[in-house]
Amino acid sequence: MSRRNVKITKKRQAILDVLRATDEHLTAENIYFILKRKNIKIGLATIYRTLDLFYRNGIVNKINIGDGTIRYEYVDKGSVHHHHLVCIKCGKVMEYTDEKEPEFLEGLAKRIKEKYNFTVLSHEIYLYGICKECNESE
Ligand SMILES: [Zn+2]
Ligand SMILES: [Zn+2]
Ligand SMILES: [Zn+2]
Repeated sequence: MSRRNVKITKKRQAILDVLRATDEHLTAENIYFILKRKNIKIGLATIYRTLDLFYRNGIVNKINIGDGTIRYEYVDKGSVHHHHLVCIKCGKVMEYTDEKEPEFLEGLAKRIKEKYNFTVLSHEIYLYGICKECNESE
């Protein structure tokens, strides 16, 4: 899992640039259309393959909110550990951080280990609900 294994070609750089320039969580199709608007022609199949390569090398994260599409975000080594809030009304995906999470997860991992002898190594959290905008437009 090292990004040194990935040879950064022109096409790969263009895809990476799109992801690095945004806080949004983009699908392969989103990236395809953004590149198209910039007159960069990269086929959808190539984008899918590249994103998979990036994922396997820890360059991007996959966000799977269970709606049948995979979204991607650039892994910024300097960014804080975060998870995602998913609005079930408008489909928006937001990030959140919680300073009490490490404490909570440590306890949870400990209880899981005791109960199931299962060693927790990583986790993904998605919270589903209604966003601020959707709440205010009620
Ligand atoms: Zn976490
Ligand atoms: Zn919403
Ligand atoms: Zn995110």
